[in-house]
Amino acid sequence: MPDRYDVVIAGAGPAGAQCARDLAERGYETLVLETEPEETFPAQSNKSTGGTFPSMMGSFGIPDDVVMNYTDSVVLESPSENFQLTQPGAVLEFADFKRYLVRDGRERGATYRFDARVSKPITEDGEVTGVRYGGDEEVYADIVVDATGPSAPLAKALGVSDLKRSKQAVGVEWEFEGVDLDCPGYADLTDAMMLRLDHDLAPGGYAWIFHTGADTAKVGLCFIQNQKYSPNADRIRIDDALTRWLDGDPRFADANRIETSQHRGSAHIQPPGALSTDGFMAVGDTVPSIDPLWGQGIDKCMKSGRAAAVTADRCFTGRMDTSAEEMTIYDTLWHRDVAPKAAVRLLMTHLLYYAPTERYDRLIRDLRRLSSDTLTAANGGNPLALARLFHAGDISLFRGFVAEHRDLIGELLPGPRWLLSE
Ligand SMILES: Cc1cc2nc3c(=O)[nH]c(=O)nc-3n(C[C@H](O)[C@H](O)[C@H](O)COP(=O)(O)OP(=O)(O)OC[C@H]3O[C@@H](n4cnc5c(N)ncnc54)[C@H](O)[C@@H]3O)c2cc1C
Repeated sequence: MPDRYDVVIAGAGPAGAQCARDLAERGYETLVLETEPEETFPAQSNKSTGGTFPSMMGSFGIPDDVVMNYTDSVVLESPSENFQLTQPGAVLEFADFKRYLVRDGRERGATYRFDARVSKPITEDGEVTGVRYGGDEEVYADIVVDATGPSAPLAKALGVSDLKRSKQAVGVEWEFEGVDLDCPGYADLTDAMMLRLDHDLAPGGYAWIFHTGADTAKVGLCFIQNQKYSPNADRIRIDDALTRWLDGDPRFADANRIETSQHRGSAHIQPPGALSTDGFMAVGDTVPSIDPLWGQGIDKCMKSGRAAAVTADRCFTGRMDTSAEEMTIYDTLWHRDVAPKAAVRLLMTHLLYYAPTERYDRLIRDLRRLSSDTLTAANGGNPLALARLFHAGDISLFRGFVAEHRDLIGELLPGPRWLLSE
């Protein structure tokens, strides 16, 4: 008898593990294949700062014991300005969080196989029927889900994802003790998650300090590996960029790196591909689902896992139908619930990273000036609220942005072609 399940999921990250929890809860035979060995899981894939918000914790039933520190505010910082927004949050111990998702999924009935690297899909008459893993092992399923993050071996082979190197943002972070969280000249970062816009530190990206309790913090940065966003900066390796910041910022003068602490990974800042095909869905950062603007990936990826589980349930109910047409329910849910207004958010992100460092000080001053309702509307992509963040002097910034991003704008906004003419 062939090894067979209702659903096989490749990857035990937030997206795959949440999909498994929901499917197992509904009584489906669910198998998760994870490339790392269980004894050290997660090692390589312990990649995230784990900054999240109460809505994620509540929606997915995440327990307090995977939280390192509850935070009260989000701080945005530029070289000379800062803006503090009251916003409750939680910094997770990402490894504990991932192990919790596995444990809870098993309790609900999901099966996990570790040390099981998925290499390619098995297809029959163009339909996905299973996967090859761990060398020459095979397992079959009515629905296969790729939740392997940016490696995406199944989605790539099926032409569902086309993750581009030029749109890849890389990130690295270390944990420290002895951080001065209330340093003169800077915002008080006690119980805060801070994001800093500054091309001198993170060219084409941002840097962060997330307080994890007492005098400890997670300190890191991420940027898109593309010279377009830092034309005047020397190409710099991300570890060197982090070291340079640590050496030059007084908040780290007495800080010591907590040994072996390192979180490292990447995500793509680009529109999704097809999302699904016959008997197949791509979830999480395989798509990619991460919010490009603020790097919120956990919540988005868990939501995409849930949308895939809802779709599978629908396809299995009544007359079983896992055709490409039926699987597009997932596409609809993704665009509606996981990443609404994805195109606007991508454009905002690329424009933000394209703007010069000097412009960031003014942006932060504007953010301080606006009401919280306007800020929420701007963050949601409302054009009127966004307009309040721009000024007459930004015309040359827009011109340069349009000239250098014709391909992206054409891809995201196929309507207004006149914008793109020379
Ligand atoms: C440095 C950094 C900091 C971040 N900070 C935050 C933050 O503060 N808040 C936030 O919300 N988001 C943050 N993110 C983003 C967030 O971590 C990701 O969006 C999220 O982890 C993606 O979840 P996922 O399940 O799609 O993929 P992943 O987390 O990448 O999980 C994929 C899983 O698949 C496994 N796998 C890979 N290849 C295979 C294969 N071939 N076969 C089987 N298994 C495989 C991996 O081992 C892993 O367990 C951060 C990301 C980085 C890199």
